[in-house]
Amino acid sequence: MLDLLDGWDNTLRGLIANADTQLTPRRIHALPVGHSWDRAPGVTLLGDAAHLMSPFAGEGANLAMFDGAQLALEIIEHAGNTEGAFAAYEAELFPRTTRAAAESAESLEMMFAPDAPKGLLGMFASFDAAPDADPAPELTGQAAKSA
Ligand SMILES: Cc1cc2nc3c(=O)[nH]c(=O)nc-3n(C[C@H](O)[C@H](O)[C@H](O)COP(=O)(O)OP(=O)(O)OC[C@H]3O[C@@H](n4cnc5c(N)ncnc54)[C@H](O)[C@@H]3O)c2cc1C
Repeated sequence: MLDLLDGWDNTLRGLIANADTQLTPRRIHALPVGHSWDRAPGVTLLGDAAHLMSPFAGEGANLAMFDGAQLALEIIEHAGNTEGAFAAYEAELFPRTTRAAAESAESLEMMFAPDAPKGLLGMFASFDAAPDADPAPELTGQAAKSA
């Protein structure tokens, strides 16, 4: 591992050189960008089960919590009509998670590009140059009504 990071700052290489335990390589799994499914009576998915993506958008946990909140609101809105609640939930779930999955896939490419971490440094530099942070994403559907 240290050979792969030849030329990197020693404070960063030290994180590996001074680790107390052996490193455990782990695979990065992801569902395809735009993953969806046909409505299956009585069942839906949320969180990673619905939209597993690489960690490089930093959105998986945020999406999982958003999914749970939106699903709860749809169940309340469609009291006595579980299928209606699931259909409304999934209609917003798929486009929402496709955006994050695409961002995650793009970032994955950047992180492992032959010239990494240049892309990442460029991205951070662009944040510094931007006058304002991105606005928070807008809530839609039932989530917007309840906000
Ligand atoms: C390295 C890394 C960095 C990340 N960084 C970020 C970040 O910065 N920001 C962010 O938003 N997200 C991040 N994520 C993603 C985030 O961790 C996940 O998207 C999130 O934890 C998904 O939540 P979940 O509840 O859907 O699934 P999980 O957190 O995986 O929870 C599923 C649970 O179900 C349990 N389980 C599985 N099978 C069974 C069974 N048969 N019976 C009972 N229980 C079972 C599991 O043990 C687990 O506790 C990162 C992920 C990784 C790997």
